[in-house]
Amino acid sequence: MSTGKNGIMSVSSDRKEQIIDITALVAERVASSNIKSGVCIVFVPHTTAGITINENADPDVKADILLGLGDMVSDKLHYAHLEGNSAAHIKTALVGNSVTVIVENGRLALGTWQGIYFCEFDGPRKRQIMVRMVGPAGEEK
Ligand code: ZN
Repeated sequence: MSTGKNGIMSVSSDRKEQIIDITALVAERVASSNIKSGVCIVFVPHTTAGITINENADPDVKADILLGLGDMVSDKLHYAHLEGNSAAHIKTALVGNSVTVIVENGRLALGTWQGIYFCEFDGPRKRQIMVRMVGPAGEEK
């Protein structure tokens, strides 16, 4: 994982489906900005990868989310999309492409058990994650 100056981070998945905790990377971006009170938007510009917020305590939760989505979205239907990755598109549609987190006192106001998760559904690939902070304290450094 790496962070560029323009707020675009890259993350590489190493499996077909993988949930990667990017909380520390996003928190770093918030800390290096001078936004004390506002919002942090994390956006994934892809159609077969998304982002969500969920439990960061038990690593089994990440595996269970993938297991549950796999059960909900069949990869055996006769999908029309020729690329053959319709299940990944549907899982991305379910999970969504962005999260917004309140920034309070210069920190992400995540709950004790919340982490920000990048969700790969058609990897392994190198992906982009865009982070933008909005707040009255000023521009990003
Ligand atoms: Zn496709």
